[in-house]
Amino acid sequence: MAYRPNTVKDVILAHRIRLDPTTAQEAQFACACGVARFAYNWGLAEWRRQYLSGGKPSDVALRKQLNAIKSEQFPWMREVTKSAPQQALKNLGRAYANFFEDLKKFRRGEIPWGTIRAPRFKKKDRHDAFRADNGTDKVHPHAVKTDGKRVKLPLIGWVAMREEVRFAGRILAVTVSRKADRWYASFSIEVDYQPDVRTDDSVVGVDLGVTSLATLSDCTPKIPAPKPLGRYLKKLRRLARALSRKQRGSRNRGKAKTKLARLHGHIANIRSDALHKLTTYLTRYRTIVIEDLNVAGMLANRRLSRAIADVGFFEFRRQLEYKSTMAGSSVIVADRWLASSKLCSTCASKNETLRLAERTWTCQPCGTSHDRDRNAALNLARYAESSPASACGAEGSNDRHQTVVKPAA
Ligand SMILES: [Zn+2]
Repeated sequence: MAYRPNTVKDVILAHRIRLDPTTAQEAQFACACGVARFAYNWGLAEWRRQYLSGGKPSDVALRKQLNAIKSEQFPWMREVTKSAPQQALKNLGRAYANFFEDLKKFRRGEIPWGTIRAPRFKKKDRHDAFRADNGTDKVHPHAVKTDGKRVKLPLIGWVAMREEVRFAGRILAVTVSRKADRWYASFSIEVDYQPDVRTDDSVVGVDLGVTSLATLSDCTPKIPAPKPLGRYLKKLRRLARALSRKQRGSRNRGKAKTKLARLHGHIANIRSDALHKLTTYLTRYRTIVIEDLNVAGMLANRRLSRAIADVGFFEFRRQLEYKSTMAGSSVIVADRWLASSKLCSTCASKNETLRLAERTWTCQPCGTSHDRDRNAALNLARYAESSPASACGAEGSNDRHQTVVKPAA
């Protein structure tokens, strides 16, 4: 089927590791997060001001502007790595770019108005993070480096990690973030690798679902959503209720808050684990066909299992794309107008009246009875045969840096 040259490529991989900072280091982390948040909020206020007075704000211009006034107006910013405020402004630029992209999609009628959200000010303790990077700085190319179970951060020094970095490659940047009372380092690592050469031409269609995590077009049993999730979600609601009853500013409220945040973290881990297992499993196929759920926006929440809905389709696709690039597989994203659920995979007639709640249905013209999910997966697998993308590798798989590394939340 597809031709894949056997050359060395590089991808950017992300690896998140729990940190064991000292009390002093934790204070430094908090300080850097504070600077990042301040820069983001400063940039957002500036952006709005410039926009309202007829200007054309951009994150590049804002970064220059901040650099020019930093030492005079915000001298305390120098106490933390200079990429903390810079990256915050880059993130702001990306948040605006996404916002404008969503507005365009809304105008084209692809997403409902309710899913569009303009960038907002960041609050303390929520999504605390800062980024230190090696960037293009040729003078200090080792601002960030690792040595076994330690990572060196600019101005902070060596910080203990729970495990070693799994990939050998060039560290581009590390994002330090807080979840509950724990700190994590997310590494972006550029890795050279030799893609596997595939001789098989196996094709699989993947239907992401509500009742099960995924259904494949072949005879593989449905992949169930992680079991403990439901139990923890119940516990989550209970803890959230308990928190709301605690008095503001009390010590008990603080404790309940930490408990809740820890459970959030635990649930996120279960979800991420299930997603990683699924995406790794799928790369055993040469060609993987998935639906385009990006544009479904709000709809995606109803269509997807809770395990994926929370992490998002974007993360599923990101993982699948980088893993399949490494495994020599390709990913095909089906046209978003393909009605994979409603088409009969036997005779191709369309069941216009099929509702989301109907898990099985019988095709009137040909009499085939369908499992809703399996039928959708079969239609997706069939899509690979008609798709021109299968002749030249997956969409985007030839890009040098096809993997977008999201900063740790
Ligand atoms: Zn039929």
